Amino acid sequence: MSTHFETDAIRIQTPRSHYGEHSSALYLTSSFVFDDSEDMRASFADEKEKNLYSRYSNPNVNEFVDKMVVLEGAESGYAFASGMAAIYSTFASLLESGDEVLSCQSVFGATHALFTKYLPKWQISTTYFFSQDQYDVERLITPATKILYLETPTNPGIEILDLEFLGAVAKKHGMIFIVDNCFATPYLQRPIEYGANIVVHSATKLLDGQGRVLGGVAVGEKKYIDQIYAFSRLTGPSLSPFNAWVLSKSLETLAVRVEKHCHNAMKVAQFLEAHPLVASVKYPFLDSHPSVEIAKKQMKLGGNLVAFEVKGGIEGGRGFLDRVELCSLTANLGDTRTIVTHPASTTHSKLSQSERLEVGITPGLVRCSVGLEHVDDIINDLNAALNGN
Ligand SMILES: *Cc1c(COP(=O)(O)O)cnc(C)c1O
Repeated sequence: MSTHFETDAIRIQTPRSHYGEHSSALYLTSSFVFDDSEDMRASFADEKEKNLYSRYSNPNVNEFVDKMVVLEGAESGYAFASGMAAIYSTFASLLESGDEVLSCQSVFGATHALFTKYLPKWQISTTYFFSQDQYDVERLITPATKILYLETPTNPGIEILDLEFLGAVAKKHGMIFIVDNCFATPYLQRPIEYGANIVVHSATKLLDGQGRVLGGVAVGEKKYIDQIYAFSRLTGPSLSPFNAWVLSKSLETLAVRVEKHCHNAMKVAQFLEAHPLVASVKYPFLDSHPSVEIAKKQMKLGGNLVAFEVKGGIEGGRGFLDRVELCSLTANLGDTRTIVTHPASTTHSKLSQSERLEVGITPGLVRCSVGLEHVDDIINDLNAALNGN
């Protein structure tokens, strides 16, 4: 029976135990027992068929991975203790000395640091392109460029990268195309349909969506995931069964949550655009967004991140943060709770002013991860903070 996204996210389930539990049981066990020496021998010979040890696989982790594989339209997957574990393990498994990575400049800060501080230790270099130069990216490709890596929408600049175009470029040059799909989730955007070979996620964000656990996952073509699995079962960045159980439950409500996040975000973006103390607003589905057409082609809705420039520069942005009452000031995003941050004085404070401007981070820029509170209450809080009350 062919089923829809919502149904798969709910119904894909590890076989029930003999108790017949309706909601999945939690398998907090580090290892699994065998019937006899022959069962043990056979299980070691074909370790993927049976759970042996929870660094390799576990029923709760398998359930989460199986869901993500189907939701992203992938062949295979492996789950990690965090998004960064997924990203690091993917790069460490696939790259060799002398390889080059071509990456969008606007990637998650820790990913950027991995590229600039650690991959060079193994003679792997990274070339960056700005999202505004994406259609010119071919001139940066060399015979050593092995991976094309990006996030879209970007954070906190909320720029859109053209998955169809970049997927075709990667294919033409035989590169492995990897997309961090954390901000869109497979409910809004499925990069594999545009040629991505691997999709990585920080499950900590919208996949959990409730600010509870860290997690990560890589899904994609089996030949690559097999390499990632071989490295990871050895090095041990595996997801814990408990976190997998939480994440698997979270996926059951992903569609309804993301749908509502996006509707709230659109209303917030429209409110901000009309506010006299806001200089500009970036949201993928606003008509004023420079890439609104590409966004509407590759995304179902605009996502939950809204970036806006408060008039008054650094003081304007920070003053705004000091006046919100409902919204939280915290480092997470994609939570049920609305979160506001000021990138210029926090996540991106180590960059120079001109480096910040190159990735769209103006002095008064505020990033809002719109939550699931009643949208009128979110807007009232933002309005009061803008007006200085
Ligand atoms: C948060 C985040 C990560 C890192 O995920 P962790 O679970 O915190 O390790 C990677 N990529 C993006 C886009 C993120 O937002």
